[in-house]
Amino acid sequence: MTFNVSSFAKLLTATSDSELNNLALKAKKLTQQHFGNTIQLYIPLYLSNECCNSCLYCGFNKNQKIKRQTLSLEEATSQLQIIKSKGFDNILLLTGEHKASVGVDYLEPIIQQAQKMFSYVALEVFPCTTAEYKKLVDAGTSGLTIYQETYNRKIYSNMHPAGPKRDFDFRFTAPERALTAGMRKMGLGFLLGLSDWQTEAINLAEHLDYLMKKYWKADFTVSFPRIHEAPNGLPIQAVSDRDFVQMILAFRIAFPKVGILLSTRENAQLRDNLLGLGVTQISAESKTNPGGYSENSSDEQFKVSDNRSLEEIISTLEKKGFDPVIKDWSTILSKKQ
Ligand code: SF4
Repeated sequence: MTFNVSSFAKLLTATSDSELNNLALKAKKLTQQHFGNTIQLYIPLYLSNECCNSCLYCGFNKNQKIKRQTLSLEEATSQLQIIKSKGFDNILLLTGEHKASVGVDYLEPIIQQAQKMFSYVALEVFPCTTAEYKKLVDAGTSGLTIYQETYNRKIYSNMHPAGPKRDFDFRFTAPERALTAGMRKMGLGFLLGLSDWQTEAINLAEHLDYLMKKYWKADFTVSFPRIHEAPNGLPIQAVSDRDFVQMILAFRIAFPKVGILLSTRENAQLRDNLLGLGVTQISAESKTNPGGYSENSSDEQFKVSDNRSLEEIISTLEKKGFDPVIKDWSTILSKKQ
């Protein structure tokens, strides 16, 4: 199916319950057709909460008086071992943005170490130049997620009052630089709550469509982090569960082959209800503070809503007839190339 903006916009407009139900049935069928019963499980490892930006919505913002921590290679390896022992075989490494102390040189040895232990290593870090992305790919990175946060330039500027992240264009063009550098899997998204969700969804869909056509060899995913508690009274445009679900259905229908991720920001009941209706990957046992998988008191980026153990999530998935996958086999294909 070719992407069409006006058809996509229609999928996002207000619907009756029965229309929403029809969208759900369509999305369910497409998800089954392209992903079968599989649900991939992933886990994030926060390497550092150092940050030189001042994003108003984030707990790692440089103005927050929190306990800062950056894991050494040894500490990161120990966290990776804990995660590996839980059974995970893919890993998502995250940092704030502090290139002076947590830059590409810091990441390279940790990625190399992670690559020895996991089949698939992905990053969610600061935007880089093409040459820097090439270094990260050469070190063993297969996937990258970079959220635009908002596609609205004015709101983007208001939300990022200081720091390198103020540069909208450098962030917007980062996925393309990473794909040029050989990144195999690309994740996009925006932060729900900063602006009107329908306009943001259309902008994301156009961005995704453009990249998919130009970099057709890569795999793409989308995710929709939603702000539940605005820090320091930050005004947010709350997105209801109903609208949130409709947006996920719309993306599934318009982009049948694109993976859709749902993090532990969302509660267990909503996550369970969305399985099979479009969502293909969910995180489990997430800690959002560096070193969080062992005794640790550093501060978190956001509160996790789904605190179930990996075993509990796997058991729920199996009871609902899904096949939980904790290994990304497709990396084997790329290693053979
Ligand atoms: S969102 Fe990212 S860049 Fe912004 S303050 Fe938080 S960690 Fe730093």
